Amino acid sequence: MAIASGELQQIFLLIADETAKNRDRLCELDGVIGDGDHGLAMDTGWQAASKAVLQLDENDVSPTALFNIAAKAFLNAVGASSGPLYATAFMRAGTAVKDKHVLSDDDFLIAFSAMAQGIQDRGKAEIGEKTMIDAWKPAADAATEARRTGANVSACLEAAVRAAHDGCEATRGMVAAKGRASRLGDRAIGHIDPGAASAVIIIEAMSAFLAQRDG
Ligand code: ADP
Ligand code: MG
Repeated sequence: MAIASGELQQIFLLIADETAKNRDRLCELDGVIGDGDHGLAMDTGWQAASKAVLQLDENDVSPTALFNIAAKAFLNAVGASSGPLYATAFMRAGTAVKDKHVLSDDDFLIAFSAMAQGIQDRGKAEIGEKTMIDAWKPAADAATEARRTGANVSACLEAAVRAAHDGCEATRGMVAAKGRASRLGDRAIGHIDPGAASAVIIIEAMSAFLAQRDG
């Protein structure tokens, strides 16, 4: 089943709602190994992005234009380092589906992987450096692999959620090599990375939307 701009609007809204619900928990996680603002950054950013995309006429805006508007809104709203990371993710998603009016399941998965790649290109983080990449990269890889073995898009996103969750849990044992937490050295060990935790929430929301849509 195709995913049009109207469905993308609903996905942005759902992610914004889930992020808002988790705002305090994400701030607490960031308070332990960062500066305590990650929940605020995510809440502000996703609210701004979803408000901007919901103002668009779903019949008149391409997925690419929608992603670009989301990127601009997110970047303008967020001063923290997650701002440019997610803005790049949205811009890459937009580029990945250029000229498409509606997204096929494969297009959606390509956009999903492009988000992960965009975050990695922008932040230059590798797996094991205790960042959101530890959730995003395995999630994108798991979704792509599930698709290759014939899974439908909602099953691919379920696989992505599991991989993101495992990747997030794995950050607990890591020393941070990027971002504020890198200043803590060994003291970051024992705590999950807030950006990886928010990535799980975002991917879970996408998965929930597709699961409900596909019944
Ligand atoms: P800030 O650190 O500026 O306060 P946030 O609190 O919003 O920004 O986000 C912190 C999160 O950003 C970290 O938990 C980590 O997941 C992610 N992060 C930081 N630097 C990078 C990077 N270079 N690449 C990928 N993710 C990063
Ligand atoms: Mg922070």
